[in-house]
Parts: sequence; C-alpha cells; structure tokens
Amino acid sequence: MSDLTRLSAAEQSALLGSREISSVELTKAHLDRIAETDDDLGAFLHVSDDALTIADEVDAARSGGVSLNPLAGIPVAVKDVLCTLDMPSTAGSKILEGWVPPYDATPVARLRAARMPILGKTNMDEFAMGSSTEHSAYGITRNSWDRTRIPGGSGGGSASAVGAFQASLALGSDTGGSIRQPAAFTGTVGMKPTYGGVSRYGAIALASSLDQVGPVTRTVLDAGLLHDIIGGYDHHDSTSISDEWPSFADAARRGARGDSLKGLRVGVVKELDQPGFQPGVTARFHETLAMLSAEGAEIVDVTAPNFEYAVAAYYLILTAEASSNLAKFDSVRFGLRVTPSGNPTVEDVMSATREVGFGAEAKRRIILGTYALSAGYYDAYYGSAQKVRTLIQRDFAAAFAQVDVLVSPTAPTTAWTLGEKLDDPLAMWLSDITTIPVNMAGIPGISIPIGLADEDQLPVGLQIMAPAREDARLYEVAAAIEALLDAKRGSTFSALTPAYTGGAN
Ligand code: GLN
Repeated sequence: MSDLTRLSAAEQSALLGSREISSVELTKAHLDRIAETDDDLGAFLHVSDDALTIADEVDAARSGGVSLNPLAGIPVAVKDVLCTLDMPSTAGSKILEGWVPPYDATPVARLRAARMPILGKTNMDEFAMGSSTEHSAYGITRNSWDRTRIPGGSGGGSASAVGAFQASLALGSDTGGSIRQPAAFTGTVGMKPTYGGVSRYGAIALASSLDQVGPVTRTVLDAGLLHDIIGGYDHHDSTSISDEWPSFADAARRGARGDSLKGLRVGVVKELDQPGFQPGVTARFHETLAMLSAEGAEIVDVTAPNFEYAVAAYYLILTAEASSNLAKFDSVRFGLRVTPSGNPTVEDVMSATREVGFGAEAKRRIILGTYALSAGYYDAYYGSAQKVRTLIQRDFAAAFAQVDVLVSPTAPTTAWTLGEKLDDPLAMWLSDITTIPVNMAGIPGISIPIGLADEDQLPVGLQIMAPAREDARLYEVAAAIEALLDAKRGSTFSALTPAYTGGAN
C-alpha cells in the first residue's frame, strides 16, 4: 500500500486513529519509498534502524487503549543539524563524521515523546551554510521536482524528502532561509517560527542569534501539527520564550474554513518585489495578490528601505557568530582528528584537522567572521551590521503598524540547475535576499507553494510574514490561501508532483 506515502500527516493520523492502517505499515511504506528513491535523490545521510520498532510499540499502545498524540506513529525525517542520541549527527561536515551525540536536541526529544518514529537524518549544506545543499561533505541532494536541479539549501534534504514522499513530515533549521527557500524550490511548506519559539538546545549552532528550528511538510495543517509538538518553552535554551502558545493546528483549521482573508490587510514589501526577479515568480506572486483582493483582503504597498542592506549585514553577523560557534571543532572534543607525521604540536593537529575537516564554504565564512571580529574592525563591521539589524526591525515595526501580514515571493527565482552557482559565492548569497530580513528581525515566516513558473514549470513559493509571536496568524492566513488555491486547481499542490522514480523525470 505504497499510496500511504502520498497522504498528508493529518490524513495518515485519521487512518491510524480509526485503525484502518498500522504505524508499522505506514513506516514501512516510507522506508520502502526511501529505499526505492534515495540512491538517486540523496535526501538522507542516515536511515534509522529502529523506526519500525517504535512503530510497533505505538501500534501496541494504541491497541491497549493508551491515549496518544495525533501524530503518534507517523514517521518523520530530521535535518542532520539536530543532535540525535542514537544516530550520527554531522551537520553535513566531515569534521563531525560518525559523531554520535550524548543527548537528543529538544525538538527531537519532543518527537520521541509524541512517539513518532524517526526515519533518519537528512542532508544539508555543511553547518547550514548555503542555499543549494551542494556544500555538504557527503554529496548532493537532487530536487524532488526535477532531478537536474538543486533542492535549495541549506535544508535541501528535508525538503526533497518531503517533496518526494519519503516522509510527510520533517524538521529543518532556518538561519537565513534554509527552511523556507528549499520549501519554495520543492513545492512544499516550510515554517520558520518566531525566534525563541522552538528550542535550539541540541541544534548544532550556525549563528545563534538567527537560528531557528521548524517544520517542513506538504500542507499548512501538517506544519501546524508538527509545530505544536516541537514548540514551546525549554529551560535548556536561554532564548526560549516562556509564553503559552495557541495551537497552530487549530489556527490552520480555522484558516481552511474560509473567512480569514476578508478584511485582512496584506502588505506587499516593495523591496522584495523587484523587476530583477524571475518573470514566472513575479507572475504567480501577483496572481496570488489578485486572488486575495478578490476574497476581500486589502492589498497595501509598504516600503522597507533598509532591506537593501540586509544581505550585507547578515553575512557579517552570520560569519562573526559562525566563526565563534565553529571554534569548538578543534580536533580535541568532537569528531575528526588528523595527526600529521613527525612530532606535531596541538596547533599542528588542530590545523591539519580543520584543513581536512572543513569544506571551502565553511573556511570562507570562518575567515571572514574572524576578520570582522578582530580588534580594530569590530565597530566598523560587526557593530555597523548590528545597527542595520535594528533598522530592519524598525522597518518591520513600521510596516506592521499598517498591515496584519506581509507577503513576498519566497525566493527571487525557482530552483537553479545543479552546479550553476557553485563557483560564484556572491550569487549564491544574493539569492537569500527575500528570506534574510525575517531572521534579522526574529519574526515568523512561512513559505507555501502557489503554482509553477511558466518558463520552467518549477514551483514558486509565497512567503508570508507576521509580527513576532504571531505564528498562529501565519498558519491561519497560509491555510486560507492554500485552501483557495487547492479549490481553484481541484487538487492539492503535491498531487501535481512529477512522480519521482529515481530515474528520469
Ligand atoms: N542560505 C543562507 C546562508 O547560506 C541561509 C542558511 C540557513 O538558513 N541556514 O547562510
């Protein structure tokens, strides 16, 4: 019954609840799908051996009348940036090859507490640095929609796994767009929660003031269901928000019922709707705006003049924080150790290990960040970038004084061809222009698929943004738009996915 993999997690949950299917059946269907497709797709770095054992335990608990979480027994994929007690956690880096952490990241611990079988760990750019998943030390991931294309990054593994029906649910992490941009490129849904909404404990840090863990799914409701499980206060993370959060699944259900768009004030950020964007992206975006307007939403033009500097400031803040976070990979405490011949000093071992253990992009960013933080440059670079960050936050505050949500294309283009931007780091960095401001302000942002670009028939994403702590508003609005689009095309977006056979598509 491999068709089970085509269902949303909410549909899978209903079948489990009515005992029409078992978790073992469901988990096996996904493991089979991974076995069939992943040699070519490359979404997984590690497939778990005990997903079926967990599934079996959930089935037994359900038969015994134990009350279970709605997602209990539904298998889930986890980005390799999150520590897992029973599986290697490499963050896509050779320096952590084979490293098995001594504890679970909090979001992973919460999946286990909800009794969700973990399918395995998904591929990513090394330490989440990148926009194409080509910077992984363990090979590329192909786009689930078109195998000649990149899946986006850094979380291309989670997005392609969900897009190719290897899992209905996955976790990602988003520092500058790594959940939302891969979601846009693979026609899936990706949510970056409010900073502090999901614990970062056990998430291998890239830039601690920007990183946030969140769901990758095929429907908005599924993202809400998963967010309800992983989110909420955690005393292990000093930046964790202690508020009670509303149910995000309920917010999505409310949105799907229909009247959420009437009277909604939707701001279009001029700086994120540029003439240089790919025409098919712009066309789908403006069509969606017209549809919202026809539903009674008020479309308001807003301007955020400081977004112009967001990418430049981001790459200073990110590299500064990354250079500090990555200093712990010193050949002594974790993973790889390369000992040069002769009579090497500690510094020789450290330097030889880092030479082999870090890839080109990680080295580029460590060097840049170390330079930006060095004495005499701190104020000129890091200090100025922090000021820009404040200005971006003020732009958002001014915009949200006028509107309920802001929208933009999730990315300026659709997924590019494998290898296309690999030798041009600046072009790769500039592709993040639409997603980065959200991380700089710590606000929530979601990407949902809105159609295919005419020129290449590849998925286009709509990014919706809300003020900090208003994640529920995003789920409601995103689900309302998703319901309208589904009604218009007569199917869910994922039903359009070209069958990924592992061969040509
Ligand atoms: N593409 C961005 C970068 O390279 C975003 C990465 C991320 O969100 N982890 O930094």
